[in-house]
Amino acid sequence: MSRERAASDTATLATLNPVVPAKRARKSASQVRLERENSHDEIYERIYNAILEHRLPPGTKLVEERLAEIFGTSRARIREVLARLAHEQIVELYPQRGAYVAKPSVEQARDVFEARRLIEPAVLRRLIETLTPEKLARLRQHRDLELDARRRDDKRAVIRLSGEFHSLAAELAGNSALARNMRELSVLTCLMIFLYDAPTATSCRADEHSQIIEAIGKRDGVRAERIMLQHLDHIESSMKLDISTEPVDLEAVFKN
Ligand SMILES: [Zn+2]
Repeated sequence: MSRERAASDTATLATLNPVVPAKRARKSASQVRLERENSHDEIYERIYNAILEHRLPPGTKLVEERLAEIFGTSRARIREVLARLAHEQIVELYPQRGAYVAKPSVEQARDVFEARRLIEPAVLRRLIETLTPEKLARLRQHRDLELDARRRDDKRAVIRLSGEFHSLAAELAGNSALARNMRELSVLTCLMIFLYDAPTATSCRADEHSQIIEAIGKRDGVRAERIMLQHLDHIESSMKLDISTEPVDLEAVFKN
């Protein structure tokens, strides 16, 4: 690795800017165990959010040793967190080379949209079947956070929150397998937005989330599914996934 590359990795990793917990007096074994679990979750959440918000772009090397220093923990703990992120396909692990933020290929990106088109209508059907006023309120609350981030022009928060809208819907639908899959697919979509988004595009259109929520509120499954599928079309078509795999004809490129 070049020195410049190493320096830029350090700078990128430093944006994680963690709050290292202060050392305290003696603790009981269960307290210690609980804090250890929290710290695993906390490190996981910080790295997860940094990836979602594009502070750690796809392809960034996640150096165990530096992360261990940043979070004031052991390399073993960092390795556990990276393994969990790798299991969720957010991080790629290479033997001898280490861990990198995932960089989905165009083919994988198309697979993600195909899977979302199958899963999300099912999520909406289940959500409408099990709908309560509280669930509807959660969705509206989330939409308000999204609108607020847009008003502030906080692009990082907009990308994270708009992805999380889809995971929240799946979580509220109450099927843990669907929720787990949706969470992975929406993180991969976030990474794809960074890699393939046209410069003018913004992740999800906020008005479409509002329309989906409105249809859910009326328990109109057909309409909710239709808007969702259009919504996925819009996200996919805003990405530049039509990169040609044909070999480039150099002569044609320079003939003028
Ligand atoms: Zn969306």
